[in-house]
Amino acid sequence: MTKQDIYNKLVHTLPKECVLLDESLSKYTYTHTGGNADLFVTPTSYEETQTVIRFAREHNVPVTLLGNGSNLIVRDGGIRGIVLSLVKLTDITVTDTTITAQSGAAIIDVSRMALHHTLTGLEFACGIPGSVGGALFMNAGAYGGEVADVLASVIVLTEDGELLNLKREELELEYRNSSIATNKYIALEATFKLAPGEHEVIKAKMDELTFLRESKQPLEYPSCGSVFKRPPGYFAGKLIQDSGLQGKIIGGAQVSTKHAGFIVNINNATAKDYTTLIKFVQDTVKEKFGVDLETEVKIIGEE
Ligand SMILES: Cc1cc2nc3c(=O)[nH]c(=O)nc-3n(C[C@H](O)[C@H](O)[C@H](O)COP(=O)(O)OP(=O)(O)OC[C@H]3O[C@@H](n4cnc5c(N)ncnc54)[C@H](O)[C@@H]3O)c2cc1C
Repeated sequence: MTKQDIYNKLVHTLPKECVLLDESLSKYTYTHTGGNADLFVTPTSYEETQTVIRFAREHNVPVTLLGNGSNLIVRDGGIRGIVLSLVKLTDITVTDTTITAQSGAAIIDVSRMALHHTLTGLEFACGIPGSVGGALFMNAGAYGGEVADVLASVIVLTEDGELLNLKREELELEYRNSSIATNKYIALEATFKLAPGEHEVIKAKMDELTFLRESKQPLEYPSCGSVFKRPPGYFAGKLIQDSGLQGKIIGGAQVSTKHAGFIVNINNATAKDYTTLIKFVQDTVKEKFGVDLETEVKIIGEE
């Protein structure tokens, strides 16, 4: 089936504005790089999401899920088939000490909502620029906190389009991994269990973490956050710094001079610039220290 055929079929079941043909993904990634999606699909409900998944399954069309694009490098050749974005599913509701958020909501907004309701537990997430879905996928965390600490349950869609309610214990949340990632589930909704706190204390913690982030991270440039996972017993940034790579430039991508664990887009970088620099850093660190740097950032799409 051609992409035009897929488009023609999808616009019969979804609102037309929810299906875009040949959409540039550089608009949706934090690095501002990446080629086109054949189809960029943004359902407005769980039912529509289910319809898209079942359609894709039936017609053997590949589906790639995009969150906020803050932990992704999409290669310059783009992505064939459907790129699914839950950006239109952003409801956040609060009941007593529980917050339920749809996967397209920004985890920063959930953290702010917790502050608004004087609930503590999500302060760590106040500067993580991902969606709730992306945060679940990676078990996102910062400054000693992580999603696993506060998650109660999730609603996911399986590859077959079946809806499942899963408790935290069933999600195998570990350092930057979860069964959402391993089972290729599409997370639709998360429920967080928080605790009553004091507004001033929660706010002070969030302000402190924001200050730390702003002083240490190169937030003035596009990037995808920490490029590498923390190798056991080491810090990726320190290894990169000690390898003399801070400031290294390939094309428009640079190992940040502010935080060596980040690669920033300083001058219209392509995804190829990013992946070439990542490989160069991995090879150099391996040669100098014998340590394998595994990417935390997901690299997807065609060359
Ligand atoms: C400046 C900066 C600072 C950062 N700081 C931190 C930090 O402190 N801590 C941290 O953990 N991360 C950090 N990150 C990385 C990133 O924000 C997190 O990993 C975030 O959780 C990624 O979410 P996303 O929605 O952007 O996912 P994306 O980058 O869009 O996708 C990442 C993966 O999640 C999957 N995914 C997205 N949505 C869903 C869903 N609904 N269901 C299932 N899978 C899904 C995608 O398929 C993809 O494989 C930072 C990034 C930047 C740019």
